[in-house]
Amino acid sequence: MSVSDLAAHPLTNWQGPLGLPDFTKIGDGDFGSVFDAALKAHEAEIEAITAGTEQASIENTLQALELAGEALDRVSSIFWCRAGAHTNDAIQALEREVAPKMSRHFSAISMNEKLFARIDDLYQKRDSLKLDAETLRVLERTWKGFVRSGARLDTDGKKRLAAINEQLSSLGTTFGQNVLADEREWALFLDEGDLAGLPDFLKSAMAEAAETRGQKGRYAVTLSRSIYEPFTTFSERRDLREAAWRAFTRRGQNGGASDNTAVVRDMLRLRAEKAKLLGYDSFAALKLDDTMAKTPKAVHDLLDPVWEKALEKAAADQKELERLATAAGSNEQFAAWDWRFYQEKLRAEKFAFDEAELKPYLQLDHVIAACFDVAMRLFGLTFEEKKGIAGWHPDTRVFAVKNADGSDRALFLADYFARSSKRSGAWMSALQSGYSLGKGSKPIIYNIMNFAKPPAGEAALLSVDEAKTLFHEFGHALHGMLTDVTWPSVSGTSVSRDFVELPSQLYEHWLTVPAVLEKHALHVKTGKPMPKDLLDKMLAARTFGAGFATIEFTASALVDMAYHARPDAPAEPLAFETETLEKLAMPDTIAMRHRTPHFSHVFAGDGYSAGYYSYMWSEVLDADAFSAFEETGDPFNPALAKKLRENIYAAGGSKDPEELYIAFRGKMPTADAMMAKRGLV
Ligand SMILES: [Zn+2]
Repeated sequence: MSVSDLAAHPLTNWQGPLGLPDFTKIGDGDFGSVFDAALKAHEAEIEAITAGTEQASIENTLQALELAGEALDRVSSIFWCRAGAHTNDAIQALEREVAPKMSRHFSAISMNEKLFARIDDLYQKRDSLKLDAETLRVLERTWKGFVRSGARLDTDGKKRLAAINEQLSSLGTTFGQNVLADEREWALFLDEGDLAGLPDFLKSAMAEAAETRGQKGRYAVTLSRSIYEPFTTFSERRDLREAAWRAFTRRGQNGGASDNTAVVRDMLRLRAEKAKLLGYDSFAALKLDDTMAKTPKAVHDLLDPVWEKALEKAAADQKELERLATAAGSNEQFAAWDWRFYQEKLRAEKFAFDEAELKPYLQLDHVIAACFDVAMRLFGLTFEEKKGIAGWHPDTRVFAVKNADGSDRALFLADYFARSSKRSGAWMSALQSGYSLGKGSKPIIYNIMNFAKPPAGEAALLSVDEAKTLFHEFGHALHGMLTDVTWPSVSGTSVSRDFVELPSQLYEHWLTVPAVLEKHALHVKTGKPMPKDLLDKMLAARTFGAGFATIEFTASALVDMAYHARPDAPAEPLAFETETLEKLAMPDTIAMRHRTPHFSHVFAGDGYSAGYYSYMWSEVLDADAFSAFEETGDPFNPALAKKLRENIYAAGGSKDPEELYIAFRGKMPTADAMMAKRGLV
């Protein structure tokens, strides 16, 4: 296909109803050639920017760059939607081909010296250009993005950076494979007589694990978290719990070919070198530069008080568990492999109830209606389902979303049921993002879920977790749909990693608001609302064990930060881990959730390096943000909802996240509400 044919192709020229792609005209065989042509078209657009002889201006450079690649955006958004939600062999084969092509394409753009020269020219004279705040921020972020990719380095520096990136990426792959090898290698084979205390679901998972390892008829404890955690929770056999705990905490540290000690040492050294090369004090400073937290100090200001409270709570919890152990006849010293076991005994004693009792109250269609209802009460949005429009799969549902004044806001597509052509999990994405630059673009946002499809004629029922997931992903969808920005690169969810979960986690809070449940959580047979005491019991049970959970998480986050906030790399990472934990007074009865040699978030790639904290950061934000509503006594307080819309859901990345949060809340968040929610205070 030639570049000139692109404009007419259904993958790039969307002629379906409501401005959607016409999915009935898209064949799997189309993607490959359209991708190639769209990549070429984008290259030509970049070439046209850099070939310009007139001086760089916002219009001829920044705007041209932002609006370039429309065909590529369109074919990509449909392709990645299909790859996740409705794949097949042809799509999968193409995925392996497209992913490296895209990565080469975009790294060539970020290394384009002529392009950077024009951006740099604008950046250097930005103060004299009289730019509005959003344009200035887009210019600054674009410039920083180039700089972080090495645009300001000399030839040797660029070469060195490329070599470092390549080594880091291959070390990251090795790290992940080593963890996997240790997890596959180790198994503890048990027989019928060794299973005291184990629930049926675990026994059958262990039987299957043994069978796949060639030991049919026996039971295997493996190091997969889905077996390890319940095993150490339920097994009455202390010796077996200890064996499993020891193997689990030593993954990646067993000597031999799969040992990660040297891999970690090399990675930390290369990361420190990379940060220095790019002009940062530490790798953490580099990674945190474009986040809400901004500095390691801000991360510590958040985590340190949480750590102190968690230590107190865990110490008190341990005393209670020790009493329980003694009462059960144990005269051994309480150890790390006893914690989950006695904690479960305590939980069963304190919070006996059956979560399955809640399910008949949570019909899928009612939970969707509840999501829409909350969006109506907070933001005045209305949702109208448009039947008979073809999506990527017959289960796709299409909703037209309108503002309170009846004007068009967005399209929302949703695909709720599990099937074999869909990957697991739940997510939000965009077929098209919203912005006003150029001819503008209306948000087309979608949610994918994996709920079990009921037999024809029956209502789909959700668990509480599933209903929460639906609210969570819908919160992300609102972030995309309510976006009100000029520039595409700051639209919707294009915000930092430690801010992006705020709109989604915050939205979950409205699921359990009594007014919402009373209206929407009606029993599938009787039509009666969900009993409040049942729900309260379930919610109370969730904060149980918070001391343990907070310690194991926060220890990992603090060690991650300690590694990366120093200007150099420790010579012996594992000794440094021990030293860091000693300084923290880590209880020896709790292990880090992820010890260094198997901390895949941080070492199997770059995703959460110096970033593991952001899970808790987001939790602090959502708890603090919802407590703003609670403080007014009205979960739908209109004045606050207006601020929430303007500063959180509509602003995308158009402003610094800290500035946005303060504009909504009046102050920076504190961890108080999060700690209260976790039951730490
Ligand atoms: Zn999320």
